[in-house]
Amino acid sequence: MPPRSPKPRLTTDARRRAAELSTRLLGFYDREGRDLPWRQTKDPYRVWVSEVMLQQTQVVTVLPYYARFLEAFPTVRALAESATDDVLAMWAGLGYYGRARNLQAAARVVVANHGGVFPRDWADALALPGVGRYMAGAVLSIAFGQRLPAVDGNAERALARVFLVRGHIGSGRAKARIHALAEAAVPADRPGDHNQALMELGALVCTPRAPQCGRCAVRELCGAAERGLQEAIPRPRPRPAARAVTAVAAVVRRDSRVLIRRQSGPGAWSGLWVFPHAEGHELDAVGLPADLAAPTGRVVQVRHTVMQRRIDLKAHECRAAQGVALPQGEWRWVKASELEAVALPAPHRKVARLLGLGLPPTRLLDAEGVEHAG
Ligand code: SF4
Repeated sequence: MPPRSPKPRLTTDARRRAAELSTRLLGFYDREGRDLPWRQTKDPYRVWVSEVMLQQTQVVTVLPYYARFLEAFPTVRALAESATDDVLAMWAGLGYYGRARNLQAAARVVVANHGGVFPRDWADALALPGVGRYMAGAVLSIAFGQRLPAVDGNAERALARVFLVRGHIGSGRAKARIHALAEAAVPADRPGDHNQALMELGALVCTPRAPQCGRCAVRELCGAAERGLQEAIPRPRPRPAARAVTAVAAVVRRDSRVLIRRQSGPGAWSGLWVFPHAEGHELDAVGLPADLAAPTGRVVQVRHTVMQRRIDLKAHECRAAQGVALPQGEWRWVKASELEAVALPAPHRKVARLLGLGLPPTRLLDAEGVEHAG
């Protein structure tokens, strides 16, 4: 890990404005904050689940998943003791399944080492799988009232504008300055509400494009608005070019069922159910026995960009022959009507939808916050 930039010193004026910012933010939050289910609780588990789901996924998409997930796993212990397949199935359609795997792994640590309660200690919280500075700050400030910042992309953008942080947003210096400002702004009283208010401002008012400065509660404190630099700050982080990957899949159908296998080995899709697939152009690359299935000639193509990979996937619908043994591995014939409840990765969900296998669209945000169909 690269060394962190040294903690920047803040001027007295910056500290004064940071304190003033909090007063205004809390007023805005009380007047205009959305009434969301995870804001009606201080239960650390419920706050934690919401924060995990909201990473890279929009509020409107998370709402039904949140309710269903907590009904299925109402406590940390229930989550820890459940089969991972059941957890992934409950996550099906939200995407970024690593979040669900980490959440359950962390729940198991919480049960084993912390009596089933999210730890109050900063270092213990950070040691949990999938919990970074943002997540720890969010849960500890919201659930336990600890005076800690929680800076997501929305908060980062609003702070950069208010305090004129001009460096590109991914640079160590800009990050360190934003974090120092966030730390200075968080009040002893209502730190969780303050953090949520800042994120809410970024989500609803100080949006990436066309921020609504005219109705903004912190307009009088905002350096970017004063200088007309709202659209220029923050400078976007330079993105590495996505690596192009060409892949091919077989969607093998038999009566009303479709063939899926569990992805083994390491990687983001490990443990998920997938259509048999491989990198390459030709259906042969998938490696199914030639007598197992014959292509019907129907082909669909999807493009999906995730984690710096642009996947061009060509999927061939195939009709299964009767009585042919499946290759080694974990396989299932699943009813097409039940695919929705299966933890398929996003490109395979797209394929299923294009082939009329009845999956509703979901809305996901990629690592840069860009929305795409899941
Ligand atoms: S005044 Fe405009 S740029 Fe500044 S924080 Fe408010 S919405 Fe963002």
